[in-house]
Amino acid sequence: LSKRRVAEDAAPRADAGSARDFSTLPGMRDYALLRTAMQSLDLPSPLFQVHDGLAGAHSHVGGRAVVNFASYNYLGLNNDPRVQQAARNAIDRYGVSVSGARITAGERVLHQELEAALAEWHGAEAALTFVSGHATNVTTIGHLMGPRDVVVHDAAIHNSCTEGVRLSGARRLPFAHNDLDAAERELAAARRGAQRALLLLEGHYSMDGDCPDLARAVSIARRHDAWLMVDEAHSLGVLGPTGRGVAEAQGVDPAGVDLWMGTLSKTLSASGGYIAAPRDVIDWLRHTAPGSVYSVGLAPPLAAAALESLRILRAEPERVLRLQANALLLRDLLRARGFSTAGSIGAAIVPVMIGSSVRTARLAHAMLDRGVALQTVLFPAVPEHSARLRFFVCAEHSEADIRFAADSMAEAAGAVGAVEALPGLG
Ligand code: PMP
Repeated sequence: LSKRRVAEDAAPRADAGSARDFSTLPGMRDYALLRTAMQSLDLPSPLFQVHDGLAGAHSHVGGRAVVNFASYNYLGLNNDPRVQQAARNAIDRYGVSVSGARITAGERVLHQELEAALAEWHGAEAALTFVSGHATNVTTIGHLMGPRDVVVHDAAIHNSCTEGVRLSGARRLPFAHNDLDAAERELAAARRGAQRALLLLEGHYSMDGDCPDLARAVSIARRHDAWLMVDEAHSLGVLGPTGRGVAEAQGVDPAGVDLWMGTLSKTLSASGGYIAAPRDVIDWLRHTAPGSVYSVGLAPPLAAAALESLRILRAEPERVLRLQANALLLRDLLRARGFSTAGSIGAAIVPVMIGSSVRTARLAHAMLDRGVALQTVLFPAVPEHSARLRFFVCAEHSEADIRFAADSMAEAAGAVGAVEALPGLG
């Protein structure tokens, strides 16, 4: 694959610059580069792979059975008959949609029950749900902060958070991943000129599988009079002996965090997101946040599925312990086979750092050939030198599944060998 060929195929078309030209859209060139490179190497794209059947520990891809490490159905509740029945009952009673924003005709008692349960789970006064986790961060951060404010955040924070900051117009100051000394320096320097400040972290980082030092973050936020917001998308049902998240795992009082954010799409096997926080903030968001006022209420089957999942999580904490044991085993087996798992603490997300996007895609393909599905994180989602594979572990994986995955990785890495980074990427 020549540098010239990649550059030519990804180059803007002849009508570039005309009013109807889409080729200059942000990201278009990077994406085209990757696609062209994959095609030239005869490598099927690992993106948008169709899975069939239930997204559990096992799944079907392209008609064949695979051990599935690509889905974040952490506690296997997506496949639980009680959760599925709760969703069916909600459809029977309320229909598929609430057909309105909650502030008008879309409010259902299911929303209120789910929010009360989520608030209790986080030790917060109240909670508010939104129709997507991504939208939850965008609308909440975008609404909470403004152009005279500053947001200091971990560089590895999810896109939904950075999009929220962009919308808010606040000054955005990223700090190196998990470097809370740097966070404090940024906050101290920026605080005086700003009206309000927000320190923004994830409880369990989705790209690296590690956690922040929460007690430290709480004291930094207090010292500099900043709000602390923690995205628990990948912590709920994952961290702590009963799955209450990073605060439980680290023995920190959850009251030190001003806004807890979470999603319904992972452990709770639905889709949607929520904020758990003091009641006055939640009431303000409910009445004024655009994602609340101008968007439909959570669909009944999703609200019911999330509520039932939370009930099962509370009643069956052994699921959390099984997930934790599985994840630790996978991380340790991968490490023992010489793979770098970044800062993974051995919780649900175990990344394997590969480096080049092409090698990552080749490895994912070789794994699929061996019957293991996992996630690829390629350029431009991450810089070209830090492309990686991600394993999402779940409570339903057996020890045999995990040993098979680790052995398959060792075989696949041997078969694929070294692959050069793509020219022109990064
Ligand atoms: N926050 C984090 C840390 C995430 O990883 C994600 C998506 N996986 C989201 C928010 C958005 O959640 P959702 O996919 O439920 O919209």
